[in-house]
Amino acid sequence: MNENKTDIRVRFAPSPTGYLHVGGYRTALYNYLIAKQSGGKMILRIEDTDRTRLVEDAIENLVQALDWGGVACDEGVYLTAEGKVEQRGEYGPYIQSQRLPIYQEYIQKLLDQKDAYLCFCSKERLDTLRAAQSEQNQTPRYDKKCLALTEEEIQAKIEAGEEYVVRLNLPADTLIEFDDKVYGHIAFNTNDLDDQVLIKSDGYPTYHFAVVVDDALMHITDVIRGEEWISSTPKHVYLYKTLGIEPPNYTHLPTVLNESKKKLSKRNDDAAMEDFKTKGYLPEALTNFVALLGWSSADETEIMDMDELIERFDASRIHKAGAVFDMEKLNWMNGQYIKKLSNEELAKRCKPYLKEEVDLQKLALIADAVKEKMVTLNDINVLMEPFLRKGVVGEEQQAILAEPDSRVVLQVLQEKLEGTESLTAALAQELIRAVQKETGIKGKGLYMPIRIAFTGQMHGDDLAKTMAAIGRDELLLRLKEELQKEQ
Ligand code: GLU
Repeated sequence: MNENKTDIRVRFAPSPTGYLHVGGYRTALYNYLIAKQSGGKMILRIEDTDRTRLVEDAIENLVQALDWGGVACDEGVYLTAEGKVEQRGEYGPYIQSQRLPIYQEYIQKLLDQKDAYLCFCSKERLDTLRAAQSEQNQTPRYDKKCLALTEEEIQAKIEAGEEYVVRLNLPADTLIEFDDKVYGHIAFNTNDLDDQVLIKSDGYPTYHFAVVVDDALMHITDVIRGEEWISSTPKHVYLYKTLGIEPPNYTHLPTVLNESKKKLSKRNDDAAMEDFKTKGYLPEALTNFVALLGWSSADETEIMDMDELIERFDASRIHKAGAVFDMEKLNWMNGQYIKKLSNEELAKRCKPYLKEEVDLQKLALIADAVKEKMVTLNDINVLMEPFLRKGVVGEEQQAILAEPDSRVVLQVLQEKLEGTESLTAALAQELIRAVQKETGIKGKGLYMPIRIAFTGQMHGDDLAKTMAAIGRDELLLRLKEELQKEQ
């Protein structure tokens, strides 16, 4: 194995569960930011050695969610333009279930060194042992019974077809230490650790074994992952020692919590990237928000696009405390990003969310009128209603329309509108001004009947923009309808 660590190499190593949790996305994003700012490489590896938890199309979903967020890997697993899973890079395969011969080679090395041993103990024996230890307030751990088996006994058991696992042979009372970039110096005594299963009875490696072999063979320099793995890290560090390889640098990230300070979970919260996509959050807003879950920029800047995040991200400023997922802040941030989009771009982004077909040009005009109010892209459906059809006009509004001055305003406006071909907000503004000049009616007396005639409402979005969004022909129809009513 090569130990050249001049270039930063990080990896995101999800298990294919069928969706990407935002906490997982945060891990991927931090890895990506660190790789990009150092000119290093980001690897995507799939950890699918738990054969009981396989989900169809899970790899495709994962890669798509990363892509949607804007995190692109340099090496490992990716999707072709046709959506096929492929792998690239010189340290593949990058899907663990395709690496079984490699794990075999390394487990043999550990067995030969007596750093690992075969264990034939039944589940019943292990359960009884654990229960007895718990009763005496001891850390539940394997008692190394099978370590005493002779070569002949082992052979006989294998020949008899007995199932076995391979365990790590941890020495007694030994300190294992490592430095974590977020949590500082960490030390564990092996007396508090179990002889970890490295190879399961189905022949597949456990996460703990595969992660070490792969990080080593893929020349990973920095492991950045969730804090739930801190207590496993001593086992990994010890495994590196047995393999004669220097461990990578470790950075563990604080857990992402919901507003009740519980771990954000798919069961109780919106937690999958897809949930946020479906709700109409912009990927760039979600990415910005997720970057701030557990980290903040030195000058407290909040709105940062990917390039700014790459520039400013500083792993030494990652917080230790759990990061609370504040929905209100995400909503605010999404609104900020929506406001920054051009009308045309916003219309394009809204298109997939429409519950009713509206052409892009009209949608851009509607976007211009309502974007200040939008929190998510889905909001367009409710906000565009008044532009598509006039709502029911209430009594108070009807009374205003019935006033003689209102009628004059609407009639003059009708004439002016008829003289136009298409309407922009600027032109609408001019028409209103021309009506004011011609009728001498201004202020509320001018604006109110116009707004009511077009929207049925007394208050609403910018009137000129609203008129442009409704469009000339539809405005004339709505006017005609009102003027007819009064005759
Ligand atoms: N497969 C592990 C997970 O899904 C990866 C942990 C690690 O990065 O080492 O959380």
